[in-house]
Amino acid sequence: MAKKKLLLDKIPVKRQAPKERVLNWNEVALGYSEEDAVNEATRCIMCKKSQCIDGCPVEIDIPGFIDLVRNRDFVGAARKVKEKNILPAICGRVCPQEVQCQETCVLGKKGDPISIGTLERFVADYEAKNAEIEVPEIPPSTGKRVAVVGSGPAGLTVAGDMAKLGHSVTVFEALHKPGGVLVYGIPEFRLPKTIVARECEYMGKLGVELKTGFVVGKTRTVEELFEEGYEAVFIGTGAGLPRFMKIPGENHNGVYSANEWLTRINLMKAYRFPEYDTPIKVRNKVAVIGGGNTAMDAARTSLRLGAEVVYDVYRRSRKEMPARIEEIENAEEEGIQFNFLVNPVRIIGDEKGWVKQMECIRMELGEPDESGRRRPIPIEGSEFKLDVDIVVVAIGQSPNPLIPQSTPGLEVGKWGNVVADEETGKTSMKGVFAGGDIVTGEATVILAMGAGRKAAEAMDEYLRTKKW
Ligand SMILES: Cc1cc2nc3c(=O)[nH]c(=O)nc-3n(C[C@H](O)[C@H](O)[C@H](O)COP(=O)(O)OP(=O)(O)OC[C@H]3O[C@@H](n4cnc5c(N)ncnc54)[C@H](O)[C@@H]3O)c2cc1C
Ligand code: SF4
Repeated sequence: MAKKKLLLDKIPVKRQAPKERVLNWNEVALGYSEEDAVNEATRCIMCKKSQCIDGCPVEIDIPGFIDLVRNRDFVGAARKVKEKNILPAICGRVCPQEVQCQETCVLGKKGDPISIGTLERFVADYEAKNAEIEVPEIPPSTGKRVAVVGSGPAGLTVAGDMAKLGHSVTVFEALHKPGGVLVYGIPEFRLPKTIVARECEYMGKLGVELKTGFVVGKTRTVEELFEEGYEAVFIGTGAGLPRFMKIPGENHNGVYSANEWLTRINLMKAYRFPEYDTPIKVRNKVAVIGGGNTAMDAARTSLRLGAEVVYDVYRRSRKEMPARIEEIENAEEEGIQFNFLVNPVRIIGDEKGWVKQMECIRMELGEPDESGRRRPIPIEGSEFKLDVDIVVVAIGQSPNPLIPQSTPGLEVGKWGNVVADEETGKTSMKGVFAGGDIVTGEATVILAMGAGRKAAEAMDEYLRTKKW
């Protein structure tokens, strides 16, 4: 039989042009058409030992769903993905596929790996548009009540999995909308809110009860949830506590944490002021500090709010940036001005206490540090000033402290994270499980979901056996 010719170039994804997209909040990547999806799926060589599956933290049957795409069974493909991933339209958009499934795809050795993420997004959107969302048959109620604290990807995964096993699940969310970072952090142009809402609605179809505006640790403590009859509690409260640089002048007006900046824009729709009464000061020159996805999101939202110039200031080089490559490229195309190997040392204010300038120092890279990346070292005497009127600090976030503080007996690590077993999510307290960013520190959507999946399995076993 003739050997199948390898098609090495991926089908490109259409995107809004940079000049156009900075003037709106619509999605930047437009995804695949049916033809594009089938053509991309046809490139897959259906490896016998599919390494792409090993690269997927929730082990989606990737060749299985790709095969269905190329046979035009798009709904079947979506359902195949959903066997392992309940949030495919989200993961298809924001997962760092380039360092997961796509990194291990064999085609990547000679050409472009299969665009697995874009195919995942396509099938999820296709199913939502063209088919009834299939709700699996729920087994008879076990009569066991489970509380899930936090409605980010970790909490939603636990909730979905537990509901599918017949347990009665209530999710408690502090904010007024479910979704965690997916709604308050990641902007509309990367992940439309309607998609998060759609995937949260699916939870309702599975019978999950959602209570928003409910702050566990204040409205009720974990202990009180047990007293109310919940037999197990999952803590998925994420890493939402902003970190600052601790440099002089950080208390000036016009300095924001990325968390506040993005929450006001994304969740509270500050960009539709005065229709939504949530202003943030939009000024001309914005500096965003940091090199992760959060920094890219803060910088790109600033452009869309009408800033004239947006600097990204990062203390290492482009190579060490933790943000997704696609998002760095998008930011570059949109005109974000990158200042690599630069670190702020002082923020300077005007007579009214508003930010006026930021003093920075140039850096060079030394030996790798404990993160494996080369350590940035200041170059003496290289200080310079940038004229700016807004500074957004996006240097990382710490675990939310409320539950650790209000739950005596819960073991907490030195960074304020809840200590939990990696395989089961079990914490130091009987019946209490935890997973996602509250355990690992800021990570990724799919890792939070993976932790949720493992915790749900262990929680189900605990509820059945009461063995700890
Ligand atoms: C701006 C930004 C962009 C990102 N971009 C990407 C990306 O492109 N790709 C990617 O994979 N990852 C990205 N991440 C990381 C990713 O979003 C997180 O790793 C993931 O959301 C963690 O999920 P989680 O469920 O642990 O927590 P979260 O998503 O943080 O959800 C926790 C939820 O718990 C709620 N909560 C907290 N305390 C309480 C309480 N006491 N009571 C009740 N509810 C509470 C919070 O309000 C929140 O809704 C990004 C993160 C940020 C901040
Ligand atoms: S590794 Fe790449 S080519 Fe092989 S089955 Fe997976 S997606 Fe297809």
